[in-house]
Amino acid sequence: MPKAEIIAIGSELLTPEKIDTNSLWFTEKLNELGVELRAKTIAGDEIEVIKDELKQALQRSDIIILTGGLGPTEDDVTRQAVAEAIQKPLIFDENLANTIREKFMKLNRPMPEANKRQAFVIEGSTVLTNEHGTAPGIFIEYNNKKIIVLPGPPRENQPMFESSVLPILRKDSGNRVIKKRVIRVSGMGESAVDEAIAPIYSGYQNLKTSILFNRSEIEIHLTVNANSIESAQKTLEEVTKKICEKLGIAVFSTNGETMEEVVGRLLKEKNKTLAVAESCTGGLISMRLTEIPGASSYFLQGVVAYANEAKVKMLDVAEELINRHGAVSAEVAEAMAKGVRERAGSDYGISVTGIAGPTGASPQKPIGLVFIGYADDKQAKSLKLILPGDRHLIRWRASQAALDYLRRQILKSHTL
Ligand code: AMP
Ligand code: MG
Repeated sequence: MPKAEIIAIGSELLTPEKIDTNSLWFTEKLNELGVELRAKTIAGDEIEVIKDELKQALQRSDIIILTGGLGPTEDDVTRQAVAEAIQKPLIFDENLANTIREKFMKLNRPMPEANKRQAFVIEGSTVLTNEHGTAPGIFIEYNNKKIIVLPGPPRENQPMFESSVLPILRKDSGNRVIKKRVIRVSGMGESAVDEAIAPIYSGYQNLKTSILFNRSEIEIHLTVNANSIESAQKTLEEVTKKICEKLGIAVFSTNGETMEEVVGRLLKEKNKTLAVAESCTGGLISMRLTEIPGASSYFLQGVVAYANEAKVKMLDVAEELINRHGAVSAEVAEAMAKGVRERAGSDYGISVTGIAGPTGASPQKPIGLVFIGYADDKQAKSLKLILPGDRHLIRWRASQAALDYLRRQILKSHTL
């Protein structure tokens, strides 16, 4: 299996303002070809640094992709750095200069003198055509290693990768493919998930499984290495099915869907509507739901009732209930869900009330104490949680828990 390496070039990528996204895109493409990444580097626009990095990469990897620094200006030094690293001369290519000149002519502009720099090619290399810019790419083989140099802008290098680089790499990837899938699980811890599914995934030789904790859910990452897309797909389907059977309702997504997408899809499928009452999440649930196009067909309204009076005025929560149990209580959560459901005339109502911190806690009501309320036409109920994390995380996790609580109720009521 060939190993690849990416060198992202650009001094702007070493500042806090700009991140290297090229390598993520290329990694996915390489993985699909069965090529794994061994390392990636970010180098500023400095000849010596780029040279050093490339020389190191040539020691350990079979395919090296460099992006950026192919522009016409003085600070674009990638071409020269690559030539020096492999000790090949740069030769002026009259044809290439003409091609670049024509690009400018099409725009009704004379070619600036500086763009001539882009017409220098490394001896023995293949020029990779750039349909969306002036900087041509470079492909050169050196000591049986492949060096691919592409311009920095994604809109230029992505089409170039598809049209020129893929065919080159496909030839010697031995037709291996890597396919990935992420299964998302709620309401279970990492070790419980692992304990349950280890007997499943350990039965596959060509499968890599990693279990990661995201901010509010567990992700099971499956990576299959197979000799065809079909066979990779088949293994993934099979493993996913087994994991879903084992973990049951805790699995909420097997195809990349987020929690809000899953809830939205379920509501749409069942032809049901929802209203949301939020206290400590301050509208986060409504925001997440409405980020999905078409949410208006199931999401009727969201109320942020932060003060006690607002819970009374906007959700018809009895003042006496708040006085007796406190705003953060099971009783108030249920009353909020009921109230918003009735006011909106929706099928479901959900609510959140809790203590996100860092202030507002008491011995009886610690930071992270959150009640999720749920109401439908037959009942109102609630769930008590103590969520870990800082204010930001607690709010996020509370929003996730509320959406998940609703998801579980919908699924349960439709399987009875
Ligand atoms: P260059 O080819 O170095 O002139 O790059 C031109 C532009 O491409 C930069 O200003 C960035 O906006 C973009 N770019 C370069 N490298 C990357 C990268 N690794 N990830 C995302 N964008 C990039
Ligand atoms: Mg640059």
